[in-house]
Amino acid sequence: MGLNFNLLKKVCECNSISGDEQSLVSLIKEYYKEYSDEIIYDNLGSMVALKKSRNKNAKKVLVLAHADEVGFMVSGVDNNGDIRVNPIGGINPNILLGDRVVLKSSDNKLYRGIVSNSSVVDGIKDIRFNFGFDSKEEVLKNNIEIGNSVCFDRETIKINKKRIVSKALDNRYGCFLSIELLKELKDVELDVDLYVGVSVQEEVGCRGALTITNKVCPDMAIVLDCSPCDEKNKNGILGKGVLLRVKDANMLAFRSLINYQKEMCKKAKVPCQYFVSYGGTDAGMIHKSFNGILTLTHCICAKNIHTSSSMIDVNDYNSAKKSLIYMLKDLHEERIENFKMGNR
Ligand SMILES: [Zn+2]
Repeated sequence: MGLNFNLLKKVCECNSISGDEQSLVSLIKEYYKEYSDEIIYDNLGSMVALKKSRNKNAKKVLVLAHADEVGFMVSGVDNNGDIRVNPIGGINPNILLGDRVVLKSSDNKLYRGIVSNSSVVDGIKDIRFNFGFDSKEEVLKNNIEIGNSVCFDRETIKINKKRIVSKALDNRYGCFLSIELLKELKDVELDVDLYVGVSVQEEVGCRGALTITNKVCPDMAIVLDCSPCDEKNKNGILGKGVLLRVKDANMLAFRSLINYQKEMCKKAKVPCQYFVSYGGTDAGMIHKSFNGILTLTHCICAKNIHTSSSMIDVNDYNSAKKSLIYMLKDLHEERIENFKMGNR
C-alpha cells in the first residue's frame, strides 16, 4: 500500500494521552535522530528535530504534529473495584459502550480492561471502567491511583487495501508523516531551516504548540493534523485528498498560503478539497504567537476521530506526504517574505 505500515502501527499503538506523551515522543525521537542535525525540547515535553540549511539567512519553517490523543484520567475508585474517570479531550461517552481500554498504573504497569456500562449514559461522570478487580482494596494494592492515564485499547489494521483503522489517527497521521518526511528529505538540501516535531497537550488547548513555538520562533509553520469527515455535508470526504482548511474555530486561513497549498497539490498531481471545521488545531495557537506567524494546516480527514476506531484513506496520506515534500523543496527566503506581504 506504499507506506510503512509496521511503523505506523507502532506509532498508533503507543499510549499517549495529553500530559503523558513521553513514550510516544521518545519512540519518535529515535527516528528523528537518524535524519536530523539536532533535537530540541521545550519544558512541557514537545520536541523538534532541526535539519539545517546551508543558507546563512535561512528562514525557519516549523512542521508540527501533536503527539497526544484523547483518553481519560482516573478520578476515583468505587468499592466494587470499578474505576471512575475524567475525560482528557473531547469524547462522547456513548461511543464507549462495549469498548476496551488500557490503564497505566503509578508503577508503569499496563492493565487491560473494559467499559463496565452496558446502556446509554448521561455523561462521562456515569462511565465506569473495570480492569478485572473486585474491590477498591485490590485496585489500590496494584498502585492504581487518581491521575493515572487510561487509553483506548485497539489494534491498528489495514482493511480493503486502501484504508487504515486505528485508535488515535488524530494525530498519529501527523506523527507518522513527520518521521517519513525527515527520512525523505534526509539527503535533500533545503533553502530553509526545517524544524519538524511533535507538540504535547493539543487536545486540551494546544498548550505544547505555544511553548515549542516560543522555543523555535519560526517564520512559517505547517500543522499536520487529522480532521473529522463530514460526508453528509460534503465537507471532508475520505479519498478526496488533502484538506484546504480555510476556516476553523481558532484560525482563518492565510489566503496566500491556501493558494500556495492548492498550487503545490496541483504540481504534485494529488487531489485536494476545501474544508471548514468547527474544531481547531495547533495552528490556532501558533498563528497568534509573537506578532503573528504565517501558519498553514496540512490535514487529511478521518472517520470517527476521538473514538477507538478511526479510519483514514491511504491515498489521502500519500497525497499529503507528496504535496508537503513539494512545498518544502519549493520554499525559500523570498517566497516566505512575499507571503508576509500578502496580508498588507
Ligand atoms: Zn488532532
